[in-house]
Amino acid sequence: MPSLQTVISCLSDYDPDALPVAQASRIIGEVVEPVRGTEQLALRAALGRVLAADVVSTLDVPAHDNAAMDGYAFAGSELAAGGEIALAVAGSAFAGGTGCAPIAPGTAARIMTGAIMPAGCDTVIPQEFVQVQGERIRFDAGAVRAGDNRRLRGEDLAVGQPALAAGRILRPADLGLLASLGVAEVKVRRRLRVAFFSTGDELRSIGEPLDPGCVYDSNRYTLHGMLRRLDVDLLDMGVVRDDPEALEAAFRSACENADAVITSGGVSVGEADYTKRIMARLGDVTFWKIAMRPGRPMAFGRIASHGREALLFGLPGNPVAVMVTFYHFVRAALHRQMGAQVRPLPLMRVRSAQPIRKKPGRTEYQRGILAQAADGSWRVSLTGQQGSGVLRSMSEANCFIVLGHEQGMVGAGDEVEVMLFDGLM
Ligand code: AMP
Ligand code: MG
Repeated sequence: MPSLQTVISCLSDYDPDALPVAQASRIIGEVVEPVRGTEQLALRAALGRVLAADVVSTLDVPAHDNAAMDGYAFAGSELAAGGEIALAVAGSAFAGGTGCAPIAPGTAARIMTGAIMPAGCDTVIPQEFVQVQGERIRFDAGAVRAGDNRRLRGEDLAVGQPALAAGRILRPADLGLLASLGVAEVKVRRRLRVAFFSTGDELRSIGEPLDPGCVYDSNRYTLHGMLRRLDVDLLDMGVVRDDPEALEAAFRSACENADAVITSGGVSVGEADYTKRIMARLGDVTFWKIAMRPGRPMAFGRIASHGREALLFGLPGNPVAVMVTFYHFVRAALHRQMGAQVRPLPLMRVRSAQPIRKKPGRTEYQRGILAQAADGSWRVSLTGQQGSGVLRSMSEANCFIVLGHEQGMVGAGDEVEVMLFDGLM
């Protein structure tokens, strides 16, 4: 694994006190490596897990050319005559059947969806276009083209072709795809174990009285939720006081028991410096001020204790900043550590329903609601108060409005980029 210092020393324009988002992502991407362990799981249990090896198709799916509609199969060359086509019905083929005898010129076979195409046939005319007169059918040559309504052998998956690539996070369609190949078990990467805790003397846990000047610890709950959606094993270590011994013990225990450690709070300027000092003492950790809002201060690196190593993300304390930095840095890093293909969330351009204040020189992630306007077009508006402590802004939002580094003020009706997170959270 390359050390953080090695990666950073290769950058000519590195400034930890005004680090662009893209550069922070790049550094993290170069430092994080996938865990090695794998396990063999029954297909259903593999949902959401990361495929450890390519799956190559051992079957043609479908196994035969077959009908895509209920109707009559015939040779497409019959259509060349044009006008009204008349054919004698000479056989029938049903789904699950072994097919019917070859179909001679001038004849057709009654066929059901999924049935094997009889030899001599490459086209299906749907039954609704056909007039049946005893043992003959008639239809207009223009109602269908040669080759229509037929599924080709292997058109879904062909023998020897990669069906799914290693690194794939298995989704419902993938389970179905594997089932269509008759695959009962798959090899997946082992689950990541992620430890997390909140730091701060002002934090109280649910169930404790809220003393003056204190707040309930909400970050551990948003982190719990975001991590659950990533399908990792969780180690919730509670609230740790701003006390050097307690913090050191927590960091050590976290890194001895997990692949990654996520903390919130204690990395901002003006915070009691214990957290930073302890993080730095335990490993290869840098402290960044990222040119983004919210989420400016963040620590990243690797810590070690008693021969065990873990990735470390020291997130800011503010509740919205925790979520924004998680989605922009931690999610991709954990995906990489899980051995998953890293796919950034897609950005889409839509018009802003209102003006948005923005200064160039930092990337902003404002919380937005993407909704359909009366004219049917999609517009994004702000969720209101955008302070980095206003968690309601995240709760109400269905997207981030991503305002790039160079972007200045946005006028009503201007296009902006949005990153939808409905379904992700
Ligand atoms: P810090 O980064 O530790 O200076 O914290 C910044 C702000 O976030 C402070 O107002 C904290 O009270 C608040 N904060 C820090 N940690 C949490 C937490 N776990 N839950 C809710 N608020 C927090
Ligand atoms: Mg604090």
